[in-house]
Amino acid sequence: MRGCDHHCTYCVVPNTRGMESSRPLEEIVEECKILVGEGTQEITLLGQNIDSYGKRLQPRRRTLSELLYAVADVPGLKRLRFITSHPSDLKPELFQAFKDLPNLMPYLHFPAQSGSDSVLKRMRRGYTFERYLELVAAAREAVPDMGLAGDTIVGFSGETDEDFEKTIELHERTRYQNAYIFMYSERDYTPAKEQGLPDDVPLDVKKRRINRLMKLQRQWAAEENQKKVGRVTEVFGEGPSRKDPNKQEGRNPQNQVVIVESGRELQGQLYKVEITSATDAALYGRLV
Ligand code: SF4
Repeated sequence: MRGCDHHCTYCVVPNTRGMESSRPLEEIVEECKILVGEGTQEITLLGQNIDSYGKRLQPRRRTLSELLYAVADVPGLKRLRFITSHPSDLKPELFQAFKDLPNLMPYLHFPAQSGSDSVLKRMRRGYTFERYLELVAAAREAVPDMGLAGDTIVGFSGETDEDFEKTIELHERTRYQNAYIFMYSERDYTPAKEQGLPDDVPLDVKKRRINRLMKLQRQWAAEENQKKVGRVTEVFGEGPSRKDPNKQEGRNPQNQVVIVESGRELQGQLYKVEITSATDAALYGRLV
């Protein structure tokens, strides 16, 4: 699907890509069948706000759940993912699909953008800090090993030290496996610019905040990854590691990078790895 019906004040997407439009479910399933027939093993369904998939389809509306069940059923498909989820549109019922579909990978890209309710309101995100944490708790209750990724904007219009502390608290409580953290800068054609929300957090304050958040995020992600040492995970091989061609790189179900020593080319294969060490950004292990 393309486009977005939200109007987050910092975002230019609704202006550039228009309103949400979804491809027909049958057409997507047909394309997936062709791809899998040609050897594709993993498919990621994409949408700016994928949780509202199908709401304008005719002759009847469809849901993301329906689409996931239909695509997961394509014979031979090993792995299915979807991104990106919006906290205002994600339905907790969706978590049932993770329980029912063995090839739906436990990964949720779930941007909060800020932990401060007043910043969220100015961003026009449509949820609060507490609501976001409730959804994260529901996701983890349904799927305990869910890999959770977030997006965060630091230094949005009017962000105070107290607002920023709430964002730190959000990262501490969610313990994102990985987070895409950006420094706010005003863009043309966004509601923020057009409505005169000033880009008023000084650059040095933004830099100080983003550096602090990134450091903490790396520390928490590393701590969480350390807990995985000793476990066995299934990896889909992507080929030689970019940093060291004697190592092979791949992704586990949670979409984390897993690196092993191997003289063999493992691209396109599924293999088991015992995790022996970890950093904030990757897991390292040996082939089982
Ligand atoms: S940030 Fe995402 S949800 Fe918000 S307007 Fe942009 S694309 Fe839509």
